[in-house]
Amino acid sequence: DIKLSARVQRIKPSPTLAVTALANELKAQGKDIIGLGAGEPDFDTPDHIKAAAIKAIQDGFTKYTAVDGTPGLKQAIITKFIRDNRLDYGPDQVLVSCGGKQSFYNLAQALLDSGDEVLIPAPYWVSYPDMVLLADGKPVIMDTTIDQQFKITPEQLEASLNHNTRLLVLNSPSNPTGMAYTKAELEALGAVLRAHPQVLIATDDMYEHILWRDEPFSNLVNACPDLYERTIVLNGVSKAYSMTGWRIGYAAGPEPIIKAMKKIQSQSTSNPTSIAQVAAQAALDGDQSCIGEMLQAFKTRHDYLVDELNRIDGISCLPGQGTFYAFPDMTGLIERIEGVNDDIGLAEFLLDKAGVAMVPGSAFGSPGNMRLSFATSLDNLQEAVKRIKSVS
Ligand code: PLP
Repeated sequence: DIKLSARVQRIKPSPTLAVTALANELKAQGKDIIGLGAGEPDFDTPDHIKAAAIKAIQDGFTKYTAVDGTPGLKQAIITKFIRDNRLDYGPDQVLVSCGGKQSFYNLAQALLDSGDEVLIPAPYWVSYPDMVLLADGKPVIMDTTIDQQFKITPEQLEASLNHNTRLLVLNSPSNPTGMAYTKAELEALGAVLRAHPQVLIATDDMYEHILWRDEPFSNLVNACPDLYERTIVLNGVSKAYSMTGWRIGYAAGPEPIIKAMKKIQSQSTSNPTSIAQVAAQAALDGDQSCIGEMLQAFKTRHDYLVDELNRIDGISCLPGQGTFYAFPDMTGLIERIEGVNDDIGLAEFLLDKAGVAMVPGSAFGSPGNMRLSFATSLDNLQEAVKRIKSVS
């Protein structure tokens, strides 16, 4: 028997990637599967972004870059923060990493010691708790319900804070719920945080641009500028520009934290891929109309899917405000279908009997729900709805 570290035994493989892999495997076996598991836009990366990367290869821009990103990309990120978020950062306050995932990983590694608590609202992006565990930290889950639109309240935050709390993670718009905090809600959370100066805040703005509610996007620093020195903003090009495979994310925040994250990165991956950085720069500096086109498509599909799901007995779905996920409560369906006892069983049942793949809510800390990605064509969604109806 090979002995593995306690660290690796503490965590599990990403369940969302596992569902996608299983659906792909069944497809490869010739089964007719509709995948609603994917966490990535179904659109192609826009041509002007690809062209920039092709040119970078032809120009020989294929060597190591600075660990924390090329000066050109860092400047594009700084400009983006001013343009989209009215936030000012200097070059030493920005770190480019291999996807948003590595940004959060670096942050956890740079901040946490054994026993440090990290507050994570549930439903959560699957990777936060495991990355906290890998860094020896302790994830503290704050459960939310559909009645609170899956958002934590100031009272809940207050009740979860203690002298071990090191970090609060906010993800808005949220994967998996599609809900976003209003500026007023963030102000109220900020009022609680002000009384706990040892707590830092990570705001994961990955879905910032995939938002269709009337109120424009705000993050915690927009709502509470005085928390600038305690907040790390995480973002990336994966979702906004359909660039998941390019692996570029970025973080901005207080210089000592960014510097520590850079040190971690310098001893793990070093710089993100040179040509992907050129592509990300083209994405941030270039024409932004591709974002609006994708948003329009996501909104149309969202409206269709949520409406149809709510027509099925045993399914109840809160309309989302952004992202490309629906997160319906399916406890009624679970109770009704013989042999199905929980959301994991339901996911297996729907994959097997209906050929529709989705991710069980327990992966996001919310058993009884299911995450359906509508980053797929309307035709696929119509077929998926038909199939779910036929077995439910
Ligand atoms: N943050 C959230 C909330 C996400 O949903 C994802 C991707 O699923 C990421 C971060 C990481 O994105 P990336 O592909 O850039 O690592």
